Amino acid sequence: MSRSRGRWLADAGYIDVSTPEPVARYIAELFAPEDDALRAIRTAHATAELPEIHVSAVEGKLLQVLLHAIGAHRVLEVGTLGGYSAIWMARALPTGGTVTTIEGNERHAAFAREAVTRAQVADRVEIIGGEALDTLATLPGPFDAVFLDADKAPLPQYFAHAMRLLRRGGLLACDNTFMDGHIVEDDATSSDVEGMREFNRLAATDRRLVTAVIPERDGLLVAIKVGD
Ligand code: SAH
Ligand code: MG
Repeated sequence: MSRSRGRWLADAGYIDVSTPEPVARYIAELFAPEDDALRAIRTAHATAELPEIHVSAVEGKLLQVLLHAIGAHRVLEVGTLGGYSAIWMARALPTGGTVTTIEGNERHAAFAREAVTRAQVADRVEIIGGEALDTLATLPGPFDAVFLDADKAPLPQYFAHAMRLLRRGGLLACDNTFMDGHIVEDDATSSDVEGMREFNRLAATDRRLVTAVIPERDGLLVAIKVGD
C-alpha cells in the first residue's frame, strides 16, 4: 500500500479520515474481486521487479462502471505497466472494443503482453511501445475514454491530446491526483507535482469538462467531455 491515502495523511501529521481498513477490504472483496489473472499480475509484479503502482481493484471496477456508463468501445491508456488497469478496462468493453495502451519501458510492455494473453483479452488490448508524447501525436481519434497514468510532468500536454482525441460525451480519467499528498505542499515543486497541479487546474476549469475526484488510493480524477 505504498501509495495509500491513509499513509500519506498519517505521514503528513493529519488525522487519517480514510475508510477503515476492514471496511475497505469488505468493499474491495465484495465489489471488485480479482480473478486469477489479475491476482497473478500483482504477484508477478514483485518477482519481475515492477513497481507496485498499478491502480487498485476498486479503481479498476470504478473505471469499468464509467466505461459502461458512456458505452465505450475505444479506450486509450497512457502508461501500461504490467497491464493491470488495461485488463480491467478491456473487460468492460463490448465485442470489438479495444484498449490502446502506450508504454515506454520495453520490459513493462513485454510483461503486459503476456499478462493480457493470460487474462484472455489479448484480442482487445493493443500495447504500443514508445514515448507517450511521440505516440499520442500519431494516434487517430476519436476515443470514448482516455486514462492518463504515466509520468506527471507532461500532464498538461497529455491533457491537450486527450481533449483533442476524446469524443463529446467521452471520459477523461487521470490517476494520482494527490501525488501522495505533495499536491498541497508548498515546498513540493518537482516537475511531476507541478505537472499534476497544472493538469488539475485545467481539468477543474475547462468549460468543456464536468470533473470530479474520487478519493480512492492516491486519488482518481474523472471527467466527462460535455462540449467541443
Ligand atoms: N496504468 C498502470 C500503471 C502505470 S505506471 C496500472 O494501473 O496497471 C506508469 C507507467 O507509465 C510505467 O510503466 C512507465 O514505464 C510508463 N511511462 C512513464 N512515462 C512514460 C512516457 N513518457 N511514455 C510512455 N510510458 C511512460
Ligand atoms: Mg498511477
